[in-house]
Amino acid sequence: MKNVVVLGSTGSIGTSTIKVAEDLPDRIRLLGLAAGNNAELLREQARKHQPEAISINDPAKARELSEAFGTACEVFSGTEGLMKLATLPAADIVLIAIVGTAGLQPALAAIRAGKDIAVASKEILVMAGEIVMNEARKNGVRVLAVDSEHSAIFQCLDGKPSTFVRKLWLTASGGPFRTTPKEEFAGITVERALKHPSWVMGRKITIDSATLFNKGLEMIEARWLFDIEMARVGVVVHPQSVIHSMVEFVDGSLLAQLSTPDMCLPIQYALTYPDRAASERVQTDFPGIGSLTFEKPDPERFPSLELARRAGEVGGTLPAVLNAANEVAVDAFINRAINFPQITELVRRTMDRHQVMAHPTLAQILEADAWARREAAA
Ligand code: NDP
Repeated sequence: MKNVVVLGSTGSIGTSTIKVAEDLPDRIRLLGLAAGNNAELLREQARKHQPEAISINDPAKARELSEAFGTACEVFSGTEGLMKLATLPAADIVLIAIVGTAGLQPALAAIRAGKDIAVASKEILVMAGEIVMNEARKNGVRVLAVDSEHSAIFQCLDGKPSTFVRKLWLTASGGPFRTTPKEEFAGITVERALKHPSWVMGRKITIDSATLFNKGLEMIEARWLFDIEMARVGVVVHPQSVIHSMVEFVDGSLLAQLSTPDMCLPIQYALTYPDRAASERVQTDFPGIGSLTFEKPDPERFPSLELARRAGEVGGTLPAVLNAANEVAVDAFINRAINFPQITELVRRTMDRHQVMAHPTLAQILEADAWARREAAA
């Protein structure tokens, strides 16, 4: 039985995590649940699963929840609440599925308290991969991937060192504009960008999947999770999203992990690792899928990949700047202040203006993040 804390329990990954816990009641106990704004869903989740503690961003909503639950469940709020949940003494693993950067400090707090972490929030490793992985090594805890691509690579590597690896291949669905001509990019609407062909996800990651920034962030995430330089992280477009990623070993042999796309699978693997728990949820029908195809990503229409490669290669504070500028740009696009190609342009401009600092401290990373947000919003 693992005691699991879920930060971001009301989101797309959070609700899938709850399904996984419901599938495996003998293996997973939901010890703590944290949400941003959705008090109603958090209340329902807490009623059903009776966690030891919950947290919600707004202190007023926390007070209401506290009145509703009395002594049955401790209720916290804000950043402090996330930190409390991340360090609950009985927690074995903390799954971080908060969109954006709010999960970084709780992730570090969990690691320092000796908890394994399961990371959905790729921003954490993009911003502070070096610090997070060093802290995890120092404290002897695991950093387990929830992203389907990194879960696939983790499963294929099966503990082999990066010296055995020729290349890690991240697969990308190509997003909704895989075949859209470049001339039409300026006219792409928010509604069209929010329709992903393979996955149903939160808004931010769905837009990132349309620009391919999501894949760019994943390249940097892979660099840190698997301790491998950017030059050995490649991207191949695979529209069926059945192969979740691949490892090409030094002898030329490739291993891939496949299944029907369903986030419950990588979530379950992270929460039950090193075991495999029986579950009927995910079934893969090969004749139904028919064929698996592959394409090269187009750098002309999707320059985000090269920007991410540059950020990952230069390192230091540049990945945090890319991540923050992209968050601002995605917000501006959703609010119809900029058009679709301007998302990438805004990120590039912000990166070009940044004075990179090598091996930054956490404070310097947070400073670069704040600088990039101001710069991109100007
Ligand atoms: P959603 O937008 O669906 O959910 C985000 C969650 O974060 C919600 O529970 C939200 O709460 C919560 N939240 C936001 N701000 C705070 C805060 N300050 N304190 C506490 N909770 C907060 O996003 P997704 O689930 O899609 O994505 C979450 C992360 O996982 C992202 O980093 C994404 O890149 C990554 N990811 C997602 C995948 C997917 O399939 N969705 C796949 C791989 C990675 P509320 O709703 O209550 O406001």
